[in-house]
Amino acid sequence: MLVVMRHGAPQAEIDRVVRTIEEMGYAARPMPGAQRTAVGLVGNDGRVDASRIEALPGVAQVIHVTQPYKQVSREWRPENTVVTIAPGVRIGGREVVVIAGPCSVESEHQIVTAAREVRAAGASALRGGAFKPRSSPYSFQGLGAPGLAMLALAREETGLPIVTEAMDDAGAHLVAEVADCIQVGARNMQNYSLLRTVGRIGKPVLLKRGMAATISDLLLAAEYILAEGNSQVILCERGVRSFDPAARNMFDLTAIPLVHKLSHLPIIADPSHGTGLRDQVTPMARAAVAAGSDGLLVEVHPTPDRALSDGAQSLYPAQFASLIAELRPILSAINRSLTAPPSRRVAAPATVGG
Ligand code: PEP
Ligand code: MN
Repeated sequence: MLVVMRHGAPQAEIDRVVRTIEEMGYAARPMPGAQRTAVGLVGNDGRVDASRIEALPGVAQVIHVTQPYKQVSREWRPENTVVTIAPGVRIGGREVVVIAGPCSVESEHQIVTAAREVRAAGASALRGGAFKPRSSPYSFQGLGAPGLAMLALAREETGLPIVTEAMDDAGAHLVAEVADCIQVGARNMQNYSLLRTVGRIGKPVLLKRGMAATISDLLLAAEYILAEGNSQVILCERGVRSFDPAARNMFDLTAIPLVHKLSHLPIIADPSHGTGLRDQVTPMARAAVAAGSDGLLVEVHPTPDRALSDGAQSLYPAQFASLIAELRPILSAINRSLTAPPSRRVAAPATVGG
């Protein structure tokens, strides 16, 4: 339930609503907005009797949230949430962010080269998995902690913020030491313990849609993170399993406008896993941006033919540069623009004297 206060309601009236909700045995979440403050009520299983609250001074309206998820819903927060993963790299506003890089971190040379190449083409964040959730236990599993150190080095070299995956609770703490945004992959979308952990860590989270998850499942998974007090969540459409083996997954473009209607959280698109086919990535990236995606997650490898994972869907750097060029006119047609890569971090000045 959401209690919308009157425009200009004084703090004392807001405090009284909060106290009343708490006296009723629920938790209150005040949310100051540009126009007016709303106070969310959480902790209820069914419909709450609102009569005590409706009668309080300063209350304009009480809205009963009808979906099973609450804090992620548009009813709860009408304005878009903008997630900042690094200074100048914001997801959910007018600017569209491209996160690019290899599927996996393979070596220092590979990730630093990839970072330089995607930055030069126009990406504003670097992706790359150090911990890889692979369908087969015999496939390359990622470099683990040394891979995280290589990502940190690539950030030092290029200034690009890092998006990288955590697969379990212990790994999430390790990943959080390096990542600017923690990825929760499709296979872990319903790992509720991991969702709570990344919620408590409080860093931005990129939550990918599970391969058999409905939109409601995706939003409920995000609700776990928000329920821990972390609203810095970016959703990601990456395709769902279908009956048709022609492509790796069925890329669900409809998810983008649907999520925008149902939720205030930003949603980005991953046409690499969405199609699994290099030549399908660019057309679907263009389509996703045209459909309103707040960003793209694209696999790019310096030498895809030698990639240790997902080479067949990874773009060559030159193809990625063409993709970025093709996005620009689409973005300007829908009154959006591409986020510029952040400026390179300036190295700390050497200590004088000593
Ligand atoms: C990835 O982004 O490399 C990945 C493993 O994706 P997904 O979780 O969508 O399969
Ligand atoms: Mn991959």
